[in-house]
Amino acid sequence: METDVAIVGAGAAGIAAARRLRSLGLAHVLLEAGTRVGGRAWTRRLASGRFDAGAAWLHDAERNPLVPLATAAGVALHHAAFHERRLHLGARWATPAELAAFDRAAGRFDATARAACAVRDLPLAEAVAGLDDPFLPTLLYFESCLIAAADPARLSAHDWRDNALLGTNLSPERGVGALLAPLAPRDVVLRAAVTRISGRGPVALETTNGTLRARAAILTVSAGVLQAGAIRFAPALPARWQEALASLPMGLLSKIVLTPRAGAPPPLRAGSVARRRLAPGEPGMFFHIGPLGARHVVGFFGGPVAWEAADPRAAEAFARAEWRRLFGTTADAIFARAAATAWGTDPLFRGAYAYALPGGAAARAVLAEPEAGLILAGEAVRVDGLAGTVGGAWLAGEAAAAHAVRWLRRA
Ligand SMILES: Cc1cc2nc3c(=O)[nH]c(=O)nc-3n(C[C@H](O)[C@H](O)[C@H](O)COP(=O)(O)OP(=O)(O)OC[C@H]3O[C@@H](n4cnc5c(N)ncnc54)[C@H](O)[C@@H]3O)c2cc1C
Repeated sequence: METDVAIVGAGAAGIAAARRLRSLGLAHVLLEAGTRVGGRAWTRRLASGRFDAGAAWLHDAERNPLVPLATAAGVALHHAAFHERRLHLGARWATPAELAAFDRAAGRFDATARAACAVRDLPLAEAVAGLDDPFLPTLLYFESCLIAAADPARLSAHDWRDNALLGTNLSPERGVGALLAPLAPRDVVLRAAVTRISGRGPVALETTNGTLRARAAILTVSAGVLQAGAIRFAPALPARWQEALASLPMGLLSKIVLTPRAGAPPPLRAGSVARRRLAPGEPGMFFHIGPLGARHVVGFFGGPVAWEAADPRAAEAFARAEWRRLFGTTADAIFARAAATAWGTDPLFRGAYAYALPGGAAARAVLAEPEAGLILAGEAVRVDGLAGTVGGAWLAGEAAAAHAVRWLRRA
C-alpha cells in the first residue's frame, strides 16, 4: 500500500495532522496501534458516570485550538471554576482568610520561580528554595508533580515557565475524549502498531497489519514510546533527536476513581475540590468531587509517588489513606470501589506527558525540526507554550502536516 503521508498515532496530534492533510487534498493514512482513537484524551463511561481518564480540561482556552472546534461542533464548554475549594491544615479546614493567604503564597511562588529562572535554568525546587512559606511544599507538589507530572528536583524551571497554564480552563460537557473522538477521520486504521520505519522520505512502515510506503511520515507516539525503542528505525534516529529525547523523560499523573456506596454520598457537593497542606517532600492527593456530573470522586496524584503507586492496589491504599486524612471517616465507609489509571505501565504511552530536565527546555524545538520526510509531532514536540496538553499536541500535529506539505513539494 502507498500514500503521500503516513501518520502514526491517532491521538490529538495525529487527528489534527490528518484533518489538515485532508483539507489540503493530500493522500494520507492514519495508523493507530490501539483499539480506539484519542490516545491520552479518553472519556470512559463508567456505571457512576463519565470519566476523563486522561485530559479533562482545555487549558489556556484563549489560545486553545480545540475551543473553536468544540464551539463549531455545538459542544457546550463549562468554566472549570470549582463549587467549593477546601484545604485541610492537619486538624481542621482552612478558613477563607487562610485560603486567601494560600493564594497570596501562590503568587509569591510564581514570582520567585520566574525571577530565579530569568538568570539561568535550574530545577524548579531550587528556584523556589528561598521562599519561606508554610504553603511552599503544597504549591511545589501542585505545580510540579500534578501540573507538570514531574519531580520538582528534576523539572526544568524554564520548561515550567514556558508552559505555564495561565488562561481560562474549560471543560467540555461530555469530556475531552468525547470531544476529540468524533473529530478523527473515519478511515483510521486501528490495531496497526508500527514496529519499524526505514528511510527518511520516502519511508517504509512495517506494522502489525502489513507494510505501508509513504513519501513522508508524521510520528505522534509519546516520547516514552520512542525512548523505549518500541519502534525500530533504519537508519537510527538522528543523534540530535536522541539527545533531545534524553532531556524529555515522561512524567506521570495518575487518577483514581472512587465510587461511593449506594446511599453514602461524598461529604462535599459535586464540583468541589479538596486537598491538604503538605510537609516538605510529602506527596498528597487532590480530590475532585463529581466531575462531569458523575457520582464518583476522582483523586489526582503525580510525580514520583505516581510511579511508586503504579500498582493499582498501592494506588488504592494511598487514596483511601489520603481521604481519611482529609475527611476523618474511613474511605471504606463511603467508597465501594476504586480504580486507578495505568498510563505509566501501558506500553502505548509509558507515562502521562513529557517534561524537560534542567537545561533541557530547548529539546522540544530540536524534536520539532524534521529530518527530511520524517516528522515528529505530539505534546512533547510543542514549542511556544501548551506542551504537555491536548491543545499543544493538536497544534504540533498541524505544524507537522505543514512540514509534510513542504517536504512533498520539494521531493
Ligand atoms: C492523567 C492525565 C491527565 C491529563 N490532563 C490533561 C488536561 O486536563 N488537559 C490537557 O490539555 N492535557 C492533559 N493531559 C495531557 C494530554 O492528554 C496529552 O498531552 C495529549 O492527549 C497527547 O496527545 P498526543 O497526540 O501527543 O499523544 P497520544 O494521545 O499519546 O497519541 C499517540 C497515539 O499513538 C499510539 N501509538 C503508540 N505506539 C504506537 C505504534 N507503535 N504504532 C501506532 N500507534 C501507536 C497511541 O496508542 C496513541 O493513541 C493529561 C494526560 C494524562 C495522562
